[in-house]
Amino acid sequence: MTANDADGRLSPDEAFAALGDEVRVGILRSLGDAAEPLAFSELYDRLPVEDTSRFNYHLGELRGHFVRKDEAGYALDHPGRRVVEAIRSGAVTDDPDFERTSIDDRCPACDGRLEIRWCDGSIEVFCPGCENRWERSSGRVDAAEEPESGYLGRLPFPPAGLRNREAEEAFRAAHAWTVVELLAVGTGICPRCAATVETELDACPDHEDDGTCSNCRSSFAVVFRASCTNCPYHVGSAAALGLLSSPALLGFMLDHDIDPLAPRSVRLFDRFFSEYDEAIGSMDPLRVTLTFSLDGDELALRVDESGEIVDVSS
Ligand SMILES: [Zn+2]
Ligand SMILES: [Zn+2]
Ligand SMILES: [Zn+2]
Repeated sequence: MTANDADGRLSPDEAFAALGDEVRVGILRSLGDAAEPLAFSELYDRLPVEDTSRFNYHLGELRGHFVRKDEAGYALDHPGRRVVEAIRSGAVTDDPDFERTSIDDRCPACDGRLEIRWCDGSIEVFCPGCENRWERSSGRVDAAEEPESGYLGRLPFPPAGLRNREAEEAFRAAHAWTVVELLAVGTGICPRCAATVETELDACPDHEDDGTCSNCRSSFAVVFRASCTNCPYHVGSAAALGLLSSPALLGFMLDHDIDPLAPRSVRLFDRFFSEYDEAIGSMDPLRVTLTFSLDGDELALRVDESGEIVDVSS
């Protein structure tokens, strides 16, 4: 393999061209499965290739970037590990068949059983007894899709997360995965590539409080949006979820027994982040106050247009 410049970097087309062969992908997967470096013969024996020189050619195409060789044998280099991680997550290949399924977890608003299904890289959550929290097409590229009733939102989750888990376990794992992503976003870090993210709050000036507002297509008057400055990652949520990483909010939740990452807290968490008060102080510059109530205690966070907390009162 030849690198295109002096510091040994490959261009994206060179990198993907080097992966464009099933033997090479097989080599990466085998090295990813191995607990330690493999000798040439060990690696060769793991792949269905008859011809040593052909195998050697493909291995050579991976060396120097995806695969390294030292005295101990062949092993993945960092880019090779990232490729195998992406393959194993299923994110670039799998489209699991996971139809809408009723689960034991309950809706925080009406106590009905939630329903989940897999769609487009996420677990979608529905409550048959409730109105939509969002228009289902919100944030999607193919935004013309009709909303389904009772849509509460979606939890991004790689397909591998569905393996070996019952529907309830997958739902809770997707919840935790989403919380981890939001904690990263709230700290200014893209959860997919670690580059910086840009954040903003958006408020609906004529919000209708009853159900999904016909102006903003959401049940929340103030929404949070973040997008990565480097990769296509973007996220939209209720404004409060954009503040998840703030010590004031985390402290308030933990003081009231809501651990954002504990499965037993999923319902409390969802209620907490769907039943707070939103007050728009001014539209320009945007200033909103989000007030949370738990067990008779209150926490009010005043937030600016970028989602920064400018004042905390309790
Ligand atoms: Zn409900
Ligand atoms: Zn609205
Ligand atoms: Zn990114």
